[in-house]
Amino acid sequence: MDLKQLLYKENYSAEDIESLLSLRDKESITQLQNRANEILNEYAGDSVYYRGIVEFSNLCSLDCYYCGIRKSNKNVGRYTLSGEDIISSAKWCAEQGYGSVVLQSGERSDASFVEFVEDIIKEIKTVTISEKLPHGVGITLSVGEHDKETYERFYKAGAHRYLLRIETTNDTLYKKLHPDNQKLEERKQCLEYLRETGFQVGTGVMIGIPGQTTAMLAEDILFFKEQDIDMIGMGPYLVHNQTPMAEEGQMDKDPLLQLSLNMIAVCRIVLKDINIAATTALQAVVSDGRERGLSYGANVTMPNITPTEVRSSYKLYEGKPCMDEGRQECKSCLLGRVRSIGRDVAFDQWGDSKHFAARIS
Ligand code: SF4
Repeated sequence: MDLKQLLYKENYSAEDIESLLSLRDKESITQLQNRANEILNEYAGDSVYYRGIVEFSNLCSLDCYYCGIRKSNKNVGRYTLSGEDIISSAKWCAEQGYGSVVLQSGERSDASFVEFVEDIIKEIKTVTISEKLPHGVGITLSVGEHDKETYERFYKAGAHRYLLRIETTNDTLYKKLHPDNQKLEERKQCLEYLRETGFQVGTGVMIGIPGQTTAMLAEDILFFKEQDIDMIGMGPYLVHNQTPMAEEGQMDKDPLLQLSLNMIAVCRIVLKDINIAATTALQAVVSDGRERGLSYGANVTMPNITPTEVRSSYKLYEGKPCMDEGRQECKSCLLGRVRSIGRDVAFDQWGDSKHFAARIS
């Protein structure tokens, strides 16, 4: 089958997806990119949606082998923002026209953490109501694995999207990334709970993990399809030096970037109407990484609105960009980046996943 036929198929096998992920010559990549953009325009529109991200705590009870804020890393200064700081950050977002926020932290399941998050969600929903946002800002939570009852509490409090990255769906690779007490099956179960609770469900993987193959990435994309995932947040695997995985190194930047961009394009082609984020990690590989992500079919990006005093303590990988830029600087910089590729930001909108609307109708 020639490339054009492959790009216009209705249903994709693992082998088809692997072929698309493996494209490297310039002409084929341009065709891949063009098809991803065609589908983006047809199924999701070309607007870019902002989610102002507040990394509100780097305390984590888990020990993922690749992560810079894992609990065993004693070199990290730990912090948790006050409720007041988190709420004022969300309020700032709403005032700037960012229709949505992401509240992200390390994972904790103690009762005081759950209550803290629940209270903050309720307060944000109240203080961000305006004429432009009659239901307040949209809230995406990214606070890890919990039981179903906890997810229900977060949902009832007013969060309506949840990002829980699976990182890889390959059991052997998952075991390489996590200690024995962290199980792939439990992560999958949590994605199921989130869906049953009513959330728009987001997940994603790291791309270029040592030992990962394109066949594994193809299986990841089929997993997203089988699970009817609404949103994807994924990025290149980048080493953090103070982790057990550091000694294995990482892929060279050029092939890592191309594989990551191909993943975005192929997810857009196979999954069509979902939301896909151009993540900050792409910008850690190359300075215009987020623009490139958008130009391969992504439609969401996440300006960092974490107060700059603590931002450098939330580093999951080395070379994380935008550590010192204030919120205003970030706002104009990012808008310039989006407009530089001929796209525009949809302000004062939640920017929900069209896939979610279709699956609940
Ligand atoms: S990846 Fe998430 S859960 Fe794992 S150690 Fe880092 S913050 Fe904790």
